Amino acid sequence: MPRIPRMVIDDETTVYHVMSRTALDGFVIGDIEKDFMLDLIRRYSTLYFVEILGFCLMGNHFHILVKTLPEYKFTDEGMKMGNTKKDCGLISGNTLFQESYHKAHEKEFLDLVENGQHPKALYIGCSDSRVLPNLITKSDPGDLFVIRNVGNFVAPYRPDEDFHSTASAIEYAVSVLKVENIIVCGHTHCGAIASVHSKAGLDDPELIHTKQWLTLGEAPRQQAILALGANADKQALLRLTEKLSVITQIENLLTYPSVKKRVDSGEVNIHGWVYDIESGNIDYYDPESSQYVPLSTLTEK
Ligand SMILES: [Zn+2]
Repeated sequence: MPRIPRMVIDDETTVYHVMSRTALDGFVIGDIEKDFMLDLIRRYSTLYFVEILGFCLMGNHFHILVKTLPEYKFTDEGMKMGNTKKDCGLISGNTLFQESYHKAHEKEFLDLVENGQHPKALYIGCSDSRVLPNLITKSDPGDLFVIRNVGNFVAPYRPDEDFHSTASAIEYAVSVLKVENIIVCGHTHCGAIASVHSKAGLDDPELIHTKQWLTLGEAPRQQAILALGANADKQALLRLTEKLSVITQIENLLTYPSVKKRVDSGEVNIHGWVYDIESGNIDYYDPESSQYVPLSTLTEK
C-alpha cells in the first residue's frame, strides 16, 4: 500500500518508503511478524513490480524502501496521493487486503460465514470519513454491527410507510442479532453538528433531506446555547453540542419499544461515547454523574 513518501532520493525517480507496519500492540517485533514481513515483501514484489532496496526493523514496526516500476506509471505526485488516479487506490488496496490481512485471517472469515455473525455491539456512528468504528475500537470483522449516518442521529420511533434505514438496522441488531450493547458514538469536529448551528447552505434544494435530517440535532443545539450562552466561544459550543447530541440520540433510541423493553430487563446496555479526532480518546457518558468520563478509566478499574 503506497503511503506518503518519507524519503525521496535525488537522482532516483519514484523511490519511496512505502510501507510501515506496526506489530502487535507495542510488543517488539517477533518471529511471526518477521515471517509476515518477509512474506509481505515477497508478495508485494510480485504484485507491484517493485525493487526492494532495503528494510529495517524499528522497535515495534518496520519500514520497507522500494523503487516502484514502471516510473512513468507511478509518478512522485501519484505516489504522494497514495494511489493511481484511476481507482483512488481502492483496487490495489483490495488486492493487498486479500493477499495480506484476509489471507492471515482466512480461518476467522470462514468461521463467520459458517457460524454467522454474533456482534458484540450495535455501533451507531457518524459517516465522517475520519471516524472509523473498527479502527478506533481496534475491533475485528464480526465484532460490530454498524450504522453510520450524518451526525450519528437516531430518529424517534415512527412506524409508517416511509423508508427508515437507521430504524431497520436497529431492529435487526436488537431483535434478530440480539446484541447486548448499543453504542451511540459522536465525535469532535462533527460537520453535522456544525451545520446544525450554522445552517449554512441548507436551503439548497439539493440538501432537502439533509436539512430535515439535521433537525434531529436541534434540541442539543438549544441546550448547548442555554448552558453556555449565545455568545459563548464557538468551539466550546460545538464540543458541548456534540456531547449533548449523543444523549438526545440515546433518548430517541429508547422510543423504540424493542430497545426500551430490553434495556428495562437488563438484556441490552446503551453507551454514549464521544470520540476525539485529535487525541484518539473516547469519553463515555456516565448517567450516574451526568458527566463524560474518559473510557480508559473503565479499563483501569
Ligand atoms: Zn460527524
